[in-house]
Amino acid sequence: MSLHIHGSLVTPAQARVDLSAIRHNVAVLRRYAPAAEMMAVVKADAYGHGLVPCARAALDAGASWLGTAYIQEALDLRAAGVTAPILSWIVTPGEPIDDAVAAAVDLSAGALWLVDDIAASARRAGRTARVHLKIDTGTTRGGATADRWPALLDRALAAQAEGMIEIVGLWSHLACADIPGHPSIGQQLAAFEDALAIAEKAGVAGPRVLRHIANSAATVTLPEAHYDMVRPGIATYGLSPIPELGDFGLRPAMTLSARMAVVKRVAAGTGVSYGHLYVTERETTVAVVPLGYADGVLRGATNRAQVLAAGKRRTVAGRVCMDQFMIDLGDDQASEGDEVVLFGPGTGGEPTAQEWADSLGTITHEIVTRIGSRVPRVHR
Ligand SMILES: *Cc1c(COP(=O)(O)O)cnc(C)c1O
Repeated sequence: MSLHIHGSLVTPAQARVDLSAIRHNVAVLRRYAPAAEMMAVVKADAYGHGLVPCARAALDAGASWLGTAYIQEALDLRAAGVTAPILSWIVTPGEPIDDAVAAAVDLSAGALWLVDDIAASARRAGRTARVHLKIDTGTTRGGATADRWPALLDRALAAQAEGMIEIVGLWSHLACADIPGHPSIGQQLAAFEDALAIAEKAGVAGPRVLRHIANSAATVTLPEAHYDMVRPGIATYGLSPIPELGDFGLRPAMTLSARMAVVKRVAAGTGVSYGHLYVTERETTVAVVPLGYADGVLRGATNRAQVLAAGKRRTVAGRVCMDQFMIDLGDDQASEGDEVVLFGPGTGGEPTAQEWADSLGTITHEIVTRIGSRVPRVHR
């Protein structure tokens, strides 16, 4: 659900997304990689922030490309009228490659069958498909391993000679860019150089062929990995790709909040929520917050993560349920409808998504992308 409205919205919970923060973050990232083009990665509903408004904000602020995991995400952007170049990088057999080619969505190919399928779609469509060839430099995810790279180039060059495809990119992905000094970083960059040299020898080179390998962490810490284009995701949304090194001048775009559904006094010794994992120490006020694990408030937040409510930090009291969780307000005043902020930029005393990630032993990517479809995204 994505609501583009101004003013207040009466729903139990909402994720407010500050598009000016996204524009600010894109400008910051442009300064880290001034010579490279920028692809804003908007997969997974723009990391839970709302696909189309975030894509538009990133393009307004100087991103020239968009990146999605799935073809359907790219088609959704095209359906919304977004004309910027888009690359999609997860393509499995049977997917709508025809639609992607017709919509001028660039596709990644790291295997011979996929080059063949893309060429076949292009033949049917009567137009040239744009392809980024992917080398696996050591992440062991998508892409051709080094031993298959020459064969992939040959197959792609043959399809290019027939006019079916145009090789417009050579690319890879780093496994440990968020671990400064990790030995794999240098190894992957060296493997990328080798693959580029082999491609150049085979005749794939020149200004029309974009080389790209940098995610957010590499964009802000590894200028040698910028090449022709960088692909920041998490940093676009203002969350630090390497929290140990600070915030890099980024501003979190999302504030997740809910309104108290129930506020009541209970006696000392009262068990709260499933399993009674929280028991009140004295007479106190308990508030029910209408967000649960179905909305992305992970069950691991039980007795652990903090929120801002009635002017203070409160720890989740007892088990997170599917649709709600409780907090203990002590003797502080509150009433139904009062706002509870789970996380935001941190400027108003609320926790940040980074604090949620730390308290749950995960990364902010998971905190924001897990927010469920019941939570309206409100863009301003
Ligand atoms: C998700 C993704 C990115 C962006 O990663 P961040 O760590 O969020 O910056 C870049 N490239 C590829 C291939 C990805 O899958």
